[in-house]
Amino acid sequence: MIIEAAPRRPPPFVARELRRAHAPSVARGGLENNAITQIEAVHGRRFAHPVTVGAYATPEAYAAANGLGSAVPMGVTFVGRVNLSPKLFGLQHQRLPAILTHELSHAHIQGWIGANAYIHLPNWFKEGLAVMASGGGGAEWSAKRKRKPQFNAESK
Ligand SMILES: [Zn+2]
Repeated sequence: MIIEAAPRRPPPFVARELRRAHAPSVARGGLENNAITQIEAVHGRRFAHPVTVGAYATPEAYAAANGLGSAVPMGVTFVGRVNLSPKLFGLQHQRLPAILTHELSHAHIQGWIGANAYIHLPNWFKEGLAVMASGGGGAEWSAKRKRKPQFNAESK
């Protein structure tokens, strides 16, 4: 994995590009590799492309980058890029593994079929697969929810 050196968004911003799909020699272990391994096992194939994961330290930077303009969702996969809320690195840190895995499910599918085809898949399929593949990530309070936001935004 590569840590992006030059921030392109309001600071502070850190992005990691997960390259295991194309660089199997990258050291294994750690949160990202566990999530990648889980998604590849459940989805039944490797990632088509490396995935960039953005982790944001401020709600403003996160909202500016995630395609929704909102800091409410815990994670958003937008045009193949996984964006993670700063809440996942604070009080809700225990949710990080499942939310990251959930978002990687979306990124995995987008990587194989493209963002345009992806938006035509029904949300029940995309979200159901991501929740199942992540062991419940993003669905902690699903019974209380009435509507899914666009761009696969996960619940706060
Ligand atoms: Zn989702």
